[in-house]
Amino acid sequence: MPYKLDTLAIHGGHEADAQYGSLTTPIHQTSTFIFDSAEQGAARFAGECEGYVYSRLGNPTVRELERRMAVLEGAEDAAATATGMAAVSAAILTNVKAGDHIIASRALYGCSFAFLSHMVKKFGISVTFVDMTDLTAVAGACRDNTTLMFFETPINPTLEVLDLQKLADFARQHNIISVCDNTFLTPLLQRPLTFGIDVVIHSATKYLNGHGDVVAGVICGRQDIITDIKLTALKDIGGTMSPHDAWLILRGLKTLPLRIQRHCESAQIVAEKLSVHPRVTSVYYPGLVCHPGHAMLGHQMVAAGGVLAFEIEGDVATAQYFLNQLKLCKIAVSLGDAESLIQHPATMTHSPYSQEEREQAGISDTLIRLSVGLEHVDDIIEDLHHALTKTYQHDVSVNTQSSTD
Ligand code: PLP
Repeated sequence: MPYKLDTLAIHGGHEADAQYGSLTTPIHQTSTFIFDSAEQGAARFAGECEGYVYSRLGNPTVRELERRMAVLEGAEDAAATATGMAAVSAAILTNVKAGDHIIASRALYGCSFAFLSHMVKKFGISVTFVDMTDLTAVAGACRDNTTLMFFETPINPTLEVLDLQKLADFARQHNIISVCDNTFLTPLLQRPLTFGIDVVIHSATKYLNGHGDVVAGVICGRQDIITDIKLTALKDIGGTMSPHDAWLILRGLKTLPLRIQRHCESAQIVAEKLSVHPRVTSVYYPGLVCHPGHAMLGHQMVAAGGVLAFEIEGDVATAQYFLNQLKLCKIAVSLGDAESLIQHPATMTHSPYSQEEREQAGISDTLIRLSVGLEHVDDIIEDLHHALTKTYQHDVSVNTQSSTD
């Protein structure tokens, strides 16, 4: 019987250390590899024999991580990258050429949006951003030259959920390569390739590593696609992962199943508590029964993940005042760490959007994104409640003051 994902997060793709029997994967902290002979070096360059050449092209510690991620995502292979954005850009650039058209979700992580709305244009590639919860809108955006589709689910930071099966079917019918950013859920909660998506990318900076001490990315997919990415975008543009970062992520992965369970349980409780708070106007979390993506739980998604978003009464200044009152939750971008991290997308992660683009994407002035950490959930809730109370006390005192001025 095949091992469960919890076991594979520890053992998947492991290659035993034949020399010393080391339990953990050694860190091969080397830039280059010595050839036995000039002929062997030439053969490795020509791809005629196995073996490492130079760490930008491949490294045993990095390779162990790639094998583990491929097993977890159910992919033929994986490529590790220097950052999540290196994964996004390599997966896209390798699969499009001048004159092509991309369909992308109108709400995306801010730098993915910036890359698609500014950078790819320079190379003669056009992009249409659409609401990808609406298959009719996706179909309406499709052109003869559409070759790639890019999206996240759940979407950062709106937490909208897209239908992977429908998007994969549409992409296949139209010969489009589908690329899904699975950062928010990880393969433990969602495996897009099993629905027919072609490529999965991750910011491994987040849950996969989980300890806030690495920036990294991973791409998973079919062998031909991964080989192509490695031999072009990674080899020649150079966004490869360092062996030490790979080692840290391999270590982080071992506790991913335990961490993700706790993140999900706590996020559910926090979302429920926030949704009954009088000053919280909306809570976006697929674990809530009122969320439009809730029906995907148990089918597309095992659980709703550890990130939620909410809106409070007021404006940008109110949102900033609220963040400044928090003591336990840290004001920081990123997510998936042991620490609860909170941020204001409109002025931080999603500041590459114009005001109009933000509004279309559903990112309001008071939307706040919270990555629920591993602290005791009561302490997280207490911190949020305390900050909300202080925020609206402040409002009252400001109002009182101005009315008495
Ligand atoms: N994708 C998502 C959903 C993200 O949230 C982020 C970063 O926040 C990225 C990609 C980019 O990852 P990195 O910061 O590791 O480059």
